[in-house]
Amino acid sequence: MENVQVYKFGGASVRDANAIRNLEGIVRRYGNQQPLVIVVSAMGKTTNALEQLFQLAHSGQRYEAPLAELRAFHENVATELGINNDSAGRASTPAPTLADMFTDLSDRLATVGYGDYDRQYDQIVSFGELLATCIVARAIGAQWLDCRPLIRTDHTWREGSLDWPTTELNISAALPELLAQGPVLTQGFLGGTAGGATTTLGREGSDYTAAIFAYCLRAAGVTIWKDVAGLLNADPKLFPDTVRYPEISYRETIEMAYYGASVIHPKTLKPLADRGIPLRVKSFLEPEAEGTLIHECQHPALAPAFICKADQCLLSFESKNFAFISEENLEVIFGALAQAKLKINLMQNSAISFSVCTDFSERRVHKLMDVLREHFTLHYNTGLMLFTIKNYDAASIARLTEGKRLLLEQRTRNTFQFVCKTEAP
Ligand code: ASP
Ligand code: MG
Repeated sequence: MENVQVYKFGGASVRDANAIRNLEGIVRRYGNQQPLVIVVSAMGKTTNALEQLFQLAHSGQRYEAPLAELRAFHENVATELGINNDSAGRASTPAPTLADMFTDLSDRLATVGYGDYDRQYDQIVSFGELLATCIVARAIGAQWLDCRPLIRTDHTWREGSLDWPTTELNISAALPELLAQGPVLTQGFLGGTAGGATTTLGREGSDYTAAIFAYCLRAAGVTIWKDVAGLLNADPKLFPDTVRYPEISYRETIEMAYYGASVIHPKTLKPLADRGIPLRVKSFLEPEAEGTLIHECQHPALAPAFICKADQCLLSFESKNFAFISEENLEVIFGALAQAKLKINLMQNSAISFSVCTDFSERRVHKLMDVLREHFTLHYNTGLMLFTIKNYDAASIARLTEGKRLLLEQRTRNTFQFVCKTEAP
């Protein structure tokens, strides 16, 4: 099938009835000429709300009130959009009704408890995208598609690793026939195992879903519709004077995403680069504006990019009895980090200690400590920020480090990074 376009709409672009009407306008205006796959995230902050619900259920606390709140929120938006739950809506989509979805969600919450924490998390937190797509598909008259039987992952809960050959086979078999009938609307962030259990692809993973569909369909392009004007050199909420990159290479963007630029999920770029599929980042508030085009290109030196990752933790491992940190020690440390699913964002070693900066998760850090306590003395420090300046110069370093006490710093030819206590830049 030729000329397929994939649009991805994040949480902010479906946060309420007005936002969904705006989405409908964009699809009608720009997406109606070609076959279109629309990937939608959970509405607003729903994923966070579901995480909290799950936490409550898992720790045996009452969750009825926040569940009712979540239900009312979705039902109100559906009502405002004039969606009638008894009918199939404006199009004959097979989307389940909100009532069915909430029955399913409460049944599942009731069974949360003992058992694999991360597996249960996926079965609950995935409801954000299911609910959002049921509403949006009906509101705009698109065909609702459950992506879970198509996007095949392994059993790595919360970070499903893709079985690409099966996924490609599934998507290329199922989609063309549907696309010939009109836009197909599906969930971001979700996948499924061979046994039919739901997996998720990592927080903010809906961008990745758009790339998966694009890759499998050899799409002509992907557009991520956001509440910012394109790919910027810094988060406008933190820096008042950002600049937009009109055009940027896959490689530069992959690096920025890796360092934590929140604009695109890091796994998104590789499948697109592999098949030379251009990615546009555009504002759903100003759909006419140019945005950013990410593709294979040469460009002159870029303005320094400022990237910060919050909620970091600095772990340091000291060998006992002043023994040097050796390759054998490092092998043990890396093995334990992998086992605890703690990702290294930065690392440094000295004679008798080794430090890593990771995203903080109390559960995972404790798991790590349990494994390593025997061999190392472990210290950790939380509430930290990891800053990265890509394509730095002296002025950008001075600007960002001013008045901060750096706990760790590192520089390469293009990149300057440091860890410090959390405070506004
Ligand atoms: N709803 C999921 C999250 O908030 C996935 C996404 O937004 O991309 O992490
Ligand atoms: Mg989101």
